[in-house]
Amino acid sequence: MDLTACDRVVVLTGAGISVASGIRPFRGPGGWWTEDPEAERESASHDLKHYPERIWRLFGPLRKAIVAARPNPAHNALAELEARLGDRLTVVTQNVDGLHQRAGSRNVVELHGSLLRSRCSACDLAAFENPEGGPRPCDRCGSLLRPDIVLFGEPVDAYDDAYRAVFFCDLFLAVGTSGCVAPASVLVDRALGAGARTILINLEAMSPANPAFEEEMLGRAEEILPGLFQILSA
Ligand code: ZN
Repeated sequence: MDLTACDRVVVLTGAGISVASGIRPFRGPGGWWTEDPEAERESASHDLKHYPERIWRLFGPLRKAIVAARPNPAHNALAELEARLGDRLTVVTQNVDGLHQRAGSRNVVELHGSLLRSRCSACDLAAFENPEGGPRPCDRCGSLLRPDIVLFGEPVDAYDDAYRAVFFCDLFLAVGTSGCVAPASVLVDRALGAGARTILINLEAMSPANPAFEEEMLGRAEEILPGLFQILSA
């Protein structure tokens, strides 16, 4: 497959791509929520959005890990691919760690926002880079700032951008995410409908299998991605 001849490539990334950067996933062995079920219950609370201090406290440990993290070879491989394909590559990520951008990717759809940005919990002040974080008052209205992430139960506005990218793609990769639950299961169906080749790269085999993925590669994202693009580009 000549990647340079590919019109459009969409790569969906999940928690598995950032594990090698020291970011633990939310679920699974050693995950944030696995080790702290109480925090998971609180994160799923529908009224959490009304309590910015609780949001900052709940996501504080993850934010600290993210600030200290660095991109790994999987993030770098995607940034290098974008350098070759330009805006024909779209990275759609479920992660809130900003590591794709820190590796150099620019065409990134963040489904769940970023813990490195803040926005106002009350007014429509535009989200801004804020690595220091914290529940300080909004400059415009005085309400408390909150992290610019999508909380449980909040709408995922960025889905529209992801759907648009997938609708026109001819190669769809999902990396480090479960292939049988949303968003991968939803996006891969649309990619297949658009006539794309579909590949899942994950540490564990799909269970149950999702036949919408034509190929499945098992292993670590940081080991597969750099080599995969060489193979696909040959
Ligand atoms: Zn405000």
